[in-house]
Amino acid sequence: MKQCTHVDALPHPEPQPLGGTCPECLAEGTDPVQLRLCLTCGHVGCCDSSPRRHATAHHEETGHPVIRTFEPGEDWRWCFVDHVLV
Ligand SMILES: [Zn+2]
Ligand SMILES: [Zn+2]
Ligand SMILES: [Zn+2]
Repeated sequence: MKQCTHVDALPHPEPQPLGGTCPECLAEGTDPVQLRLCLTCGHVGCCDSSPRRHATAHHEETGHPVIRTFEPGEDWRWCFVDHVLV
C-alpha cells in the first residue's frame, strides 16, 4: 500500500471553494458531470467523466496533489500523484 505524504501538507482548515461550479466549463460552455475541490487552493473543477476534465487539468497545471469530491453526500479524497484514495 502506497503512503501519501501530500495530505499532511494540506492547509488546515481546507480552503474555501472558489465557486459553486467549474469556472472553465462555464467559460467553455461544457457541462461538468461531477465536481472536485482542490484542497490546496479551493479550485473547483470537473471530474474525469466530464468532457474537459478540468480538475485533472488543474493538477497538471499547478501540481496541486489532492482533491476531494465536491458532491453532496460523498466523502473521499484522491491524490493525483500517488493515485490513491486518502
Ligand atoms: Zn499523495
Ligand atoms: Zn470543467
Ligand atoms: Zn489547486
